[in-house]
Amino acid sequence: MNYNKNHVLQTLESTFSTFIDTVNHLDHLNPSQYTSDNTMIVMIDMINGFCKIGPLHSDFVNQMIPKMARFLDTMIKKNIPVISYRDSHPADAGEFDYFPPHCVEDSEESELVSELQRTELIDITKNSTNGFLAQNPIDLPIINKEHLEHILVMGCVTDICVRDFSTTMTKHLQEINHSARVTVIENLVATFHIEGSHDRETEHLLALYHMQASGIKLVRV
Ligand SMILES: [Zn+2]
Repeated sequence: MNYNKNHVLQTLESTFSTFIDTVNHLDHLNPSQYTSDNTMIVMIDMINGFCKIGPLHSDFVNQMIPKMARFLDTMIKKNIPVISYRDSHPADAGEFDYFPPHCVEDSEESELVSELQRTELIDITKNSTNGFLAQNPIDLPIINKEHLEHILVMGCVTDICVRDFSTTMTKHLQEINHSARVTVIENLVATFHIEGSHDRETEHLLALYHMQASGIKLVRV
């Protein structure tokens, strides 16, 4: 079957146009509604290999760090638990069939960037793009699973690790009939840019569009 290209492109334009307006006018989150009992933060892959060095690092991810550090400190002051997922692969990782070798375990690439290192973080390493598969964070003893309402997600990259975790987490909550919601902080997630094949803004917005359609909330700080 051949698809009707003009129809699809016109539909995309009108649908996407509305969505971009939505993102441009997202609500700002109100930190007062988040407490150590009802909230957890998930920070994904804010490591040197995606921010500063190596084949997959991106300046656009690196640029989020100061704003993220301020938000992180605000939430840590409120004793809100923060789970930090880090890519950390064995040398023969299956993922290297799809991506160039990166963030090998115990390398500088797999270390959290120095600006975001805090003793309060709960460090979890992962060997795929989906942190949930390494550890379901709501099963950690520090999390008050019964009272949990908000899972706030930040980090990189929007269209791979952030989308994979946020979507799986949301579906897990639905599966177990838990009322907590996943919220992605739109201006504390970002993706990389490759001219001609991976447009940063387009891929970021497409991923947000699909996440919102899956039941994930979007906010800004
Ligand atoms: Zn990886």
